[in-house]
This record gives sequence, structure tokens and C-alpha cells, in this order.
Amino acid sequence: MALINFENVGHSYSGKQDDYALQPMNFRWKDGGAYALLGPSGCGKSTLLNICSGLLKPSEGSVSFDGKDVTDMSPEKRNIAQVFQFPVLYDSMTVFDNLAFPLRNRGASKSHIAQRVAEVAHMLELEDVLKRRASGLGAELKQKISMGRGLVRDDVSAILFDEPLTVIDPQLKWKLRRQLKEIHKEFGHTLIYVTHDQVEALTFAEQVVVMSEGEIVQVGTPQALFERPEHTFVGYFIGSPGMNFLPCEIDGQDAVVDGQRIPLRAEQASAARDCNANSLKLGIRPEFVELAGNQQGLDLQVSRISEMGQFRLVTALLGQHEVKVKIDNDHGPLEGPNINLHFPPEWICLYSNERLIQTPNEATHGH
Ligand code: ADP
Ligand code: MG
Repeated sequence: MALINFENVGHSYSGKQDDYALQPMNFRWKDGGAYALLGPSGCGKSTLLNICSGLLKPSEGSVSFDGKDVTDMSPEKRNIAQVFQFPVLYDSMTVFDNLAFPLRNRGASKSHIAQRVAEVAHMLELEDVLKRRASGLGAELKQKISMGRGLVRDDVSAILFDEPLTVIDPQLKWKLRRQLKEIHKEFGHTLIYVTHDQVEALTFAEQVVVMSEGEIVQVGTPQALFERPEHTFVGYFIGSPGMNFLPCEIDGQDAVVDGQRIPLRAEQASAARDCNANSLKLGIRPEFVELAGNQQGLDLQVSRISEMGQFRLVTALLGQHEVKVKIDNDHGPLEGPNINLHFPPEWICLYSNERLIQTPNEATHGH
């Protein structure tokens, strides 16, 4: 188990500085932490993970494990288990031998091997195929074996997973994720789990690291990412649908969007004024917008209502800007072409140049 520290770690495959796959960053992966690394395809997740494991040497900066510089060390020396998106197996070996391989490699005793392979095979439901050769097995089984190989050693510094469940059916995926969580609780490995799927990330990890274009844009609990996205990308990427963003101006205590005034928290309005906000946007989640009822609210024009079972997803226009709102079904039918909405000030976020404007109060609670 290890605390992994990145100091000014950046990577450019071409060697050119304006061409970073990973922007230079400082980051500390806590010893025993369970992290999900979340972001769209091509944002640099695998690059970052391979730098952690030692498969890739960063073009800049240094990596240390528990204070020891490992930048030039191989994955074996770093004592890391890594599970890849596409299974890496020895086709001619049996499933048992594939699972036992990482242990034999380290000179583990026969009884320890038998015990660990049995445990992992049980966990991944591979008991029935232990004697079969890997070559004849389907993609899903192969991926499970590949995962098993990552989990079979209990003495590694960290286990890194790179989108390991891509080919696995949703039901089993869910189960495997739960098992990973259990394993983490039991052994306390430092775990980094890469995925482009927000549901996977949010259900797996204590801390979710969100990446966009080679940069870590936020690290936080699923709740923090949902309630206080620190970057518009996080608001947009997490949630279904994502956060609403409306270009706005500040006038007194209000945000003004297309001539309509939206009251803000006093400290929020003043923070926006103080920071000389640039390309200011107001963000609010579809879940947090309310019907204003008889109170004075914002007047929006409904353009679409979709029935989603538990709720209706209403798309409406505030001036020229689209706003999505989730409305519980117990609210009864929606009348008329217009809708009267309330944006609760406590759920409004303001962004300047795509970054959250922190209010003094929030900044002290920040990560
Ligand atoms: P992700 O895992 O999030 O999909 P990657 O880390 O694989 O992203 O890729 C980040 C960026 O680096 C992408 O633009 C990708 O095309 C580029 N890249 C990845 N691997 C290589 C490589 N071996 N050589 C050159 N460019 C690469
Ligand atoms: Mg990848």
C-alpha cells in the first residue's frame, strides 16, 4: 500500500510542450484511497494511469511512492497490479495457471497460491472453468480472469484498473463493482479505477477525479461533484441531463439572464463582482429548479415535456436559453405554454471562465 505523489507530472507523446496529453500537475493519491478516474475518451486517463504504474515515463516531473522516487522504476519494481481494458492472458495456460501467475512470479508457496486462487475464483465465479485453457473462452470470461490476476496478490502497493468492465454485461458489472468495494474495505489497497461511465465512477469511489483535456478539473465525493461542480465541464458531464448553464450579468443582488432577474445569495453576488468575472455563467441542476406556484418566479416558455416515469423532464426557454427541469409527477399536470419557475439561491452556482466562483463561506469547506 502506498501514498502516490505526482510532482509537476506532465506528459507529451510528441515531446512538444504545446501538445500535452497530460497537463503538468501536482497530485497526491492517498494511501488506501479508492479513486475513480472519470472523463471522456481521449482526456488522458490511461496516460495518467500508466504513469502511476510505470508503464509510461512522464516527459516531465516525478512520481514517488511513500516518499521514494520511482519515476524510473518498472511496474514490477513498483509492485503494482494493473488490469487493462483488453484482457492480457496466456492463452495456452489454464485459467488456474493464469490466476496463479502473479503469485508464482513472486515465489509464493503452493498453499498460499491454492488459497488465493480459490478465493478470487469464487469471487469472480470462475470456479467452473479453472481447469480450462484460456484460449477457448469468451470475452467476458477472459476479462474476469484478467481482473482476477489483478486481485490475486494481496501485497501490492496499488491496484490500477483501466476500464476493466467494458465488455461485461450490466448485471455482472454491478456485482463486480460491489465486490471491488468489498475487497477495498478488506485489504485497504490504494485503488484507482478508470472509467468514462459516470454511474460506474459514482457508485464505486469515495473520491472521483474528473478529467477533461489532459487536466484534473475536480476531485471530490459524488455529492460534491453533483452539488458544487468546480468547473462547467463537471456540471455538464455529471448528471443526466447535466447542469443548466445560462450566460448572465450581475446587477445588485441578482443575476440577469435575458432581462429576467434571478436573486442570488448576497455573498455570491459580491464574490462575482469582486472577481471581475469573465464570461459569467449561472449554473443550476435540473433537479434543483422548482415550480414557483403562486409566488413570483421566472417566466419560461415550455418547448417540450418528456415523461420519464417518476418525473417529467421539462425543456423550457428562458429568453433564448434552454433550461431543463425535473418535475415530480405528484405535482399534477402542467398548464399552458408557459411555466413559472424558482431557482433556489442555495443551489445556484456562478462560473467565471468556466470555473466556479467560490464564496468565502464555501472556500473554507473546499477540498
Ligand atoms: P483516455 O484513456 O482518457 O481515453 P489516453 O490517455 O489514452 O486517453 O489519451 C490521451 C491523449 O493522448 C489522446 O489524445 C490520445 O490520442 C493520445 N495518445 C495516447 N496514447 C498515445 C501514444 N502512444 N502516442 C501518441 N499519442 C497518444
Ligand atoms: Mg484509456
